[in-house]
Amino acid sequence: MDHSADASGLLEGSDVGSQRERVVTEEEWLQKWEMGDIGFHKEQGHPLLQKYLDVLLNGRSGLRIFFPLCGKAVEMKWLADMGHSVVGVEVSEQAVKEFFSEHSLPYCEEPVPEISGAKMFQSTSGNISLYCCSIYNLSSSIVGKFDGVWDRGALVAVNPCDRQSYASLMINLVEKSSSYLLVTVSYDPNKHKGPPFYVPESEIKSLFGNCCEIRCLEKVDDFSEKHRQWGLDYFLEVLYLLKFVA
Ligand code: SAH
Repeated sequence: MDHSADASGLLEGSDVGSQRERVVTEEEWLQKWEMGDIGFHKEQGHPLLQKYLDVLLNGRSGLRIFFPLCGKAVEMKWLADMGHSVVGVEVSEQAVKEFFSEHSLPYCEEPVPEISGAKMFQSTSGNISLYCCSIYNLSSSIVGKFDGVWDRGALVAVNPCDRQSYASLMINLVEKSSSYLLVTVSYDPNKHKGPPFYVPESEIKSLFGNCCEIRCLEKVDDFSEKHRQWGLDYFLEVLYLLKFVA
């Protein structure tokens, strides 16, 4: 087995067990929202975004920030309140509507002419636009390009067989000189089927390494009772900065 000791002293493998073949359908995601099976949602937002906000913004203001597979992430509100323009994509209309209603934000909704069946929900103030469709239907001609990305619960939620298309799309959606914060998770993939899926560092490098500098900023122990019930005995969150250079 291919193992290398990382900074935390834990063994990190590139073996992803049987996760490589696993597929979660859009229908299953919609059902999770309907059932309230959304343990991934963080009501208080993510501490790593708070901590590394300066790294994402890099002293810049009025940025366009992308939230792939956004759910109802409260961090979208944080960034909009700081004067940035936020764009998200989420397949569940319920999630999108809950985002606006939970923050008491008035919004309007309109079809997206380029994507059959898709809708765009926009805050009345215009600074938060959430596309309700599959991310694979987006392109830079529809949503433009971004100065920053917050990818939490996104790459790790993408089906392993779709990672390459996802990464190619993300690379297309970012401006040169943008900052992309990526949160992955690390656990023994033979003990839990995911999502979230385990994405080894070697794979981050092969997906993005040709186009940007990759730095691991932090590994955080995030083990909780939920993970113990999944049959795991460790669970880490790993934060990377992908720095696209001009
Ligand atoms: N990033 C959010 C949600 C993580 S869960 C957070 O941090 O809370 C992953 C989300 O992706 C779910 O809300 C699911 O409905 C959505 N999703 C799954 N496949 C998708 C796809 N192909 N396109 C857009 N959204 C998708």
